[in-house]
Amino acid sequence: MNPPVRRLEEWDTARLAELAATHGTPLYVQDLERVRENYARMAEAFPEGRVMYAAKANTAAAVLRTLVEVGAGIECASAGEVERALAAGAPPERVQYTAVNPPEGDLDYAVETADEHPELTITAGAADTIDRLAERGFSGRLCLRVNPGVGAGHHEKVSTGANAKFGVPIERAPDLLVEADERGFDVVGIHAHAGSGISGEDLAAHRELVSRMGELARRTDLDLEFVDVGGGFGVPYREGEEPLDLQAVARATREALGEVEATLAVEPGRYLVADAGVLLTRINTVKSAGEELVVGVDAGMTTLARPAIYGAHHAIRSLAEGEGRDTVEATVTGPICESGDVFGEYELPVPVRDDLLAVGNAGAYGYEMASQYNSRPRPATVVVEGERSAVDRRRETVADVRRLDGGAPWL
Ligand SMILES: *Cc1c(COP(=O)(O)O)cnc(C)c1O
Repeated sequence: MNPPVRRLEEWDTARLAELAATHGTPLYVQDLERVRENYARMAEAFPEGRVMYAAKANTAAAVLRTLVEVGAGIECASAGEVERALAAGAPPERVQYTAVNPPEGDLDYAVETADEHPELTITAGAADTIDRLAERGFSGRLCLRVNPGVGAGHHEKVSTGANAKFGVPIERAPDLLVEADERGFDVVGIHAHAGSGISGEDLAAHRELVSRMGELARRTDLDLEFVDVGGGFGVPYREGEEPLDLQAVARATREALGEVEATLAVEPGRYLVADAGVLLTRINTVKSAGEELVVGVDAGMTTLARPAIYGAHHAIRSLAEGEGRDTVEATVTGPICESGDVFGEYELPVPVRDDLLAVGNAGAYGYEMASQYNSRPRPATVVVEGERSAVDRRRETVADVRRLDGGAPWL
């Protein structure tokens, strides 16, 4: 059985309470079994395609190892992610580095790594980046990121596909591909990523992107190995929301792509890890403010940034559910001195200090976006698989936060 979504209420309350008691809060819990299930569903939907996990969603070593083990490739957004992917045992032929305005150090690292592992693929999103790769003597596996120009007029959230920051304009792509080939690069693929949220509603935008990529692949005379149509497979952040119909997305993708010689590649990030993770946080403050009931917890925007950055909604469940308490409406807020540090309004069993709350869909872009703002140490990540559990990333201490301090010797 491999259900398309794991809801917050399906997590075992006693197990979560035990993990919080053992490891403290705030605590990220990531279930590797669920990561495997999500991958299996994706691989089944695209049996002829390549699944490249977008590592930036969650780089926990155990998550990377698990996905490498089941056969995923790793899509990397930086030199650091490439290093982590290789350290997790990813075969270089399954690693792709997608350079977005790459800093010098990232390109140096990528080219050095490609010298050692010529199977590595580097994706360039600007003619300028191709020049910089040539200057470094790189002539290996090159993929061209194109900007398919899909987004505006379709869906506000489909942001990167039409944002000039990402990729070369699709009209320029045929010439650039030929030029790169003539300059001696091993041109292996074309790539586009439309940004967040392929959902039932904006399948039209996805279709359009894929169809433009298919046309481009047919137009070029180069022998491309793959056509990569990116990630963005959505997950239901709201409890009542329907999960993505992956089979329908896969069907639409194949239809829109049309006949091409090259292999289809997809790059799911969120889809593989989001519902495999929860964030556990403990209530430390309960306060009535006029009509409003404010609940203070030990996780905030430095632990999970999505609500503050994107206005994102994450389901929250009190582990005190089932104790027969009445429920009330409460505003759940974090410990950061910043008015944006709010999870939102939730219906909770009457909150009491020390209650545990579980925040859903925290497995993607959770720990990865955590910061040390307010000199707050980042939380721990515990991975579970069946009966087993282990700390994958230990909790930071204030000493960790201060480790790089104090460089000015005259003060
Ligand atoms: C972020 C990213 C992804 C994954 O996006 P999700 O929404 O997590 O699926 C895939 N490809 C590229 C190039 C990305 O930058």
